[in-house]
Amino acid sequence: MSRPIQAIIDHAALRHNFAVARNHSGEAKLFAVVKANGYGHGLLRVANALSEADGFAVLTGEEALQLRDAGFDQPILLLEGFFSADELPLIAEYRLTPVIHTIEQVDSLLRSGLPMRLPIFLKCNTGMNRLGFGERAFAGALAALQRSPQIGSITLMTHFANADEAAGIAAQLRVFNDVTNGAELPVSLANSAALLRFPEARGDVVRAGILLYGACSYGETGPCDLGLKPAMTLQSRIIAIQMLKIGDQVGYGGDFIARRKMRIGVVACGYADGYPRHAPSGTPVAIDGQKSETVGRVSMDMLCVDLTHLPQAGIGSPVVLWGADPLVTEVAASAGTNAYELLCALAARVPVIEHGAR
Ligand SMILES: *Cc1c(COP(=O)(O)O)cnc(C)c1O
Repeated sequence: MSRPIQAIIDHAALRHNFAVARNHSGEAKLFAVVKANGYGHGLLRVANALSEADGFAVLTGEEALQLRDAGFDQPILLLEGFFSADELPLIAEYRLTPVIHTIEQVDSLLRSGLPMRLPIFLKCNTGMNRLGFGERAFAGALAALQRSPQIGSITLMTHFANADEAAGIAAQLRVFNDVTNGAELPVSLANSAALLRFPEARGDVVRAGILLYGACSYGETGPCDLGLKPAMTLQSRIIAIQMLKIGDQVGYGGDFIARRKMRIGVVACGYADGYPRHAPSGTPVAIDGQKSETVGRVSMDMLCVDLTHLPQAGIGSPVVLWGADPLVTEVAASAGTNAYELLCALAARVPVIEHGAR
């Protein structure tokens, strides 16, 4: 028998979430953000499920080449652009769309002598202070690029720091409108949270990530309130049972000590599978479809769950670590992180099963 852990990737859920994003996008083009191995769901798997996307966004040339080589013909956005000028010939050959965010990149482009006009996204820093040209440098960079025979279409872009927070996007949107004022060019603004919360930020190209995977990045709103469906279920089984008496400890460090007689189950899932080591005792899990919680520290290959109230559960009982219930956002909240980190961290050693692939 093989180790019972599996990640189930539900293509129907991916397609459903994409349709939700479409509904919110209006006339805007909808790019699927598939960086970080499709947020842990598999780059080509997600691209195949979402082949209707108007474009894909990735981080590296290698990811972009995988998409092209698999036959995807849409625009492919490189979210950090290129890292050195020697990538430009390949970027041109594969018709990739780099994000241009430094003057060094502009200089490289102008001197590249590329045999074609490259489409680019020009990034404006509107307050996140991560990537992009600030107010002063933006106009100069845009003018230089517009004059260049190396450059094709230009889309103006920014990224919101607080789209999923109370602060929202108003301040950054104001800066963006000021800085790009008068440039009659298409714009790309929204990530998932901005798309769902702020219709005024739709722009011409939406960059949706986390919502496609059925997780919501903000507030108390669970995916079901928005009609999203979790695309990943991480599941395993109980592989051992322990009976505890009062005072017994569980796992490394002994931070969990039984205050009552308990029956606990050992689950074949640990931090080397991508389950967060920082998830404390009490993190939600489902066993045989019943709610329970973790007990003690997560180990590399195992974690423990409370079965005291589930007498029917035993070796072989199915355990859902995250999926429809509990949601990955709930597990993330318990572990002090977000759904993005947990989904991306799914380990390569976890076998993936696909449902609903067409
Ligand atoms: C990752 C990323 C996105 C997608 O963000 P979500 O919150 O997952 O929708 C959009 N734009 C940029 C620049 C990104 O880096």
